[in-house]
Formats: sequence, structure tokens, C-alpha cells
Amino acid sequence: MTLDEYRSKRDFKKTPEPKGKQPATEKSRFVVQKHQARSLHYDFRLEMDGVLKSWAVPKGPPLEPGIRRLAVQVEDHPVDYIDFAGKIPAGEYGAGNVEMWDKGEFTLDSKSPDLLEITLSGRKLSGGYALIHTDGKNWLVIKRKERQ
Ligand code: MN
Repeated sequence: MTLDEYRSKRDFKKTPEPKGKQPATEKSRFVVQKHQARSLHYDFRLEMDGVLKSWAVPKGPPLEPGIRRLAVQVEDHPVDYIDFAGKIPAGEYGAGNVEMWDKGEFTLDSKSPDLLEITLSGRKLSGGYALIHTDGKNWLVIKRKERQ
């Protein structure tokens, strides 16, 4: 991942330099916020590179393998947004109620421009998932079959 070269050159037991906060192999946080805006959707956010990478998933992330759900990438959100819940006032962007639907940690298993493989440890979502870029802002989110 992005910091691999930086880290490979240093022995952090000996140098006071920072190792960096977002090692890809360690756990980061995710949240799914149920957002009752003009149309109901689920905002799926992954803490990566110091921001929340975000997708709006109209039908919500699948709970079982074999189901593909459209996930439309939206702008990165600040990490603090992971704890946001409440009512966005009428007339404001995204007006409507936001509630936490699921939350937990994930590990990043692989990352390329068009494919993210993650393992989620949430209350509703757990196990391997993949986000597959199709075109433009459109991605698909699937639950991976358990590896045998
Ligand atoms: Mn939203």
C-alpha cells in the first residue's frame, strides 16, 4: 500500500520517525449510516487515507453472498463523520434523518483502482466484502463467499 516503501526503509524500533497512522494491514473503522433523504439509502464509509471513503448504497450492503448492490461513490467525508447521527435540516444538502445502521472495524485485504477487498467486523456486516468499480462513480458491493 501507499506507505509500504516508506516503512520498508526504516526500523521503527530505532528511529523516532512516525510509522504512520493508517497501516493497511491493521484495522480501520467503517460505518453504515441509514439516511432517509429524498430517497432512503445507506451511506457506506471506510476510514482510509485519513478520510472516510464513501458510497451511497440505495438498497444497503448485502448480508449474503451472491447479491450485487449498486454503490455510488460520493465525496470523501471527514473522519469525524463516523459518529454523526441526527437530522439534517430541510433545505440543506442531504436533508433528512441519519442514523447509525452498523459500525465496526475492517481490514483492507487488497486495493487497486477498481477493486477493494475488505473484511468487515460489524454487528450486521461481517466477513469478506468486495467493492468493484464498474464505471464513473458506480461500484458494486458484494459479500464474498467464505474461502474454504
Ligand atoms: Mn447520504
